[in-house]
Amino acid sequence: MIRFDRVSKVFQGKPVVDDLSLHIAEGEFTVLIGTSGSGKSTTLKMINRLIEHDAGKIYFAGEEIHKFKPQDLRRRMGYAIQSIGLFPHWTVEENIATVPQLLKWPRARIRERVTELMTLLHLEPERFRRRYPHQLSGGQQQRVGVARALAADPEVLLMDEPFGALDPVTRLTLQKEIARIHQLSGRTIVLVTHDIDEALGLANRIVLLEQGRVVQQGTPLALLTEPINDVVRDFFGRSD
Ligand code: ATP
Ligand code: MG
Repeated sequence: MIRFDRVSKVFQGKPVVDDLSLHIAEGEFTVLIGTSGSGKSTTLKMINRLIEHDAGKIYFAGEEIHKFKPQDLRRRMGYAIQSIGLFPHWTVEENIATVPQLLKWPRARIRERVTELMTLLHLEPERFRRRYPHQLSGGQQQRVGVARALAADPEVLLMDEPFGALDPVTRLTLQKEIARIHQLSGRTIVLVTHDIDEALGLANRIVLLEQGRVVQQGTPLALLTEPINDVVRDFFGRSD
């Protein structure tokens, strides 16, 4: 579904993604994990061309990503981030409907889809539909962000620490909802986190990045039980 072939990105003379090769299979839940500054967000943003790579090739659905217009890529890939980026002067309904509106879906279909997504993410439609982002809690805003990313039924869902800055209970609830959405839809999901439990709980495959390079990738079990070196062992080193 998504393939990186020896991809690099340099910022101010410094490689932040360095000769990265990666394959993300269709329907798979991939988690990119690593310490702060390891290149996770940069890697994710290169997939929907929010950041352009400098070297190597990135493929989506068998085509080099430069064959797609950035806006077309972004319609086919939902994107949800920690700082949410909801439009403050738009209601919850309008925020969720952003991409369907751009795609000129009929009104009734948009309304139906918004109701469906709000229900899926446990936001009571009639209670929250007309509220503005500032009238919501952080966790509710995150849910709207995820609903917006899912609205036009994208083939891929990209998420960058979408549950950061949430209390542990809300975080757990949202993690369960994402796991359920993945099970229901079989959608390809790429999630960035530095939370080991989140990665172990959600991923079919974990990619551990360090200084813009893949240290190891594999199933959660493989990384835990067959770490290839001390970096992996230390990263997943657990006190229990
Ligand atoms: P975190 O866990 O803190 O979010 P990350 O793994 O997502 O970290 P990136 O945001 O991908 O890390 O950044 C990787 C490196 O690239 C960092 O050293 C960062 O300072 C640098 N970097 C990112 N964006 C830019 C930019 N626009 N200009 C210069 N350097 C940048
Ligand atoms: Mg980041």
